[in-house]
Amino acid sequence: MTFAEQVAPVVGPLRRAGVDALQINVGRLCNQACVHCHVDAGPKRTEVMSPDVAERILDWLAGTAVPTVDITGGAPEMAPCFRRLVARARALGRDVIVRHNLTIQQVAGYEDLPAFFAGQAVRVVASLPCYLKDNVDRQRGRGAHAASVAGLRRLNALGYGRPGSGLRLDLVYNPLGPSLPTPQEALRAAYAQHLRDEYGVVFNELLTITNVAINRFRLQLIREGALERYEKLLEEHFNPAVVARLMCRSLVSVDWLGYVYDCDFNQMLGMRLGNGTARRLWELRLDDLAGSKILTGRHCYACTAGAGSSCGGSLGREE
Ligand code: SF4
Ligand code: SF4
Repeated sequence: MTFAEQVAPVVGPLRRAGVDALQINVGRLCNQACVHCHVDAGPKRTEVMSPDVAERILDWLAGTAVPTVDITGGAPEMAPCFRRLVARARALGRDVIVRHNLTIQQVAGYEDLPAFFAGQAVRVVASLPCYLKDNVDRQRGRGAHAASVAGLRRLNALGYGRPGSGLRLDLVYNPLGPSLPTPQEALRAAYAQHLRDEYGVVFNELLTITNVAINRFRLQLIREGALERYEKLLEEHFNPAVVARLMCRSLVSVDWLGYVYDCDFNQMLGMRLGNGTARRLWELRLDDLAGSKILTGRHCYACTAGAGSSCGGSLGREE
């Protein structure tokens, strides 16, 4: 059964209910090259948003009341337009989320990122795929765990993750291999205890995200002969209770050139909004996006498996 057929009895044809968040992927340049990366990001990628595209996106945003801007990459901080995007979105009164890999703080020229984040009061969503050193280094490269802990400590020192500071620091977990994430609440408790006891690190929420079998993670699964098994696992754990909360129902995603997609995964698959019609964000009205049909595929089962998955973590509980 296709994903569209699977969700149809629950919500009918999948459509966007509204636009609560604009997710901006500023490009694929990253200081890391993680084995599970669905973006195929890395230090040699050249796709990076230009200042002109960033300005057009900001102009479009200014004409809407979309409350949240979610900036991702790659390592989004490496895009020259990054700080301008953050500052103007904040000046427009929008909440800004930055998807931050922590290790970028160790790269020359980016040491001041925690201070910049705090100064703009952005919400930091930091990837830390496990609290154990060996697992992080296996997925992200040697030394990544130590660099990540150092980055978390710097953020904590500025108030991030601390009660009453108003500076929110969330962590992102994704499984190392072809399995569903551990239940979010239980894992949060394990992360919190380990990070506090071992490193004195605190954070707000833990977001568990299911790996989507595209790009580099898909190649890894193919190499391991695990792709079919993983895709079946996701399909067999389809959970109708999370369909109404799928993130594509409330966000739009824009790429480094300004083209629009239903989510970052569709973006990576080149599935442009409107059956592939090439349209940039500034050619669309907000009303064109609310209610528009969502393009789906087999990869979508990652969002509905078990407790569900989104850029905001799990969507509920496994039925
Ligand atoms: S998973 Fe994140 S940190 Fe790792 S290569 Fe991809 S974008 Fe960079
Ligand atoms: S992959 Fe994207 S389009 Fe498919 S269900 Fe998930 S969020 Fe929606």
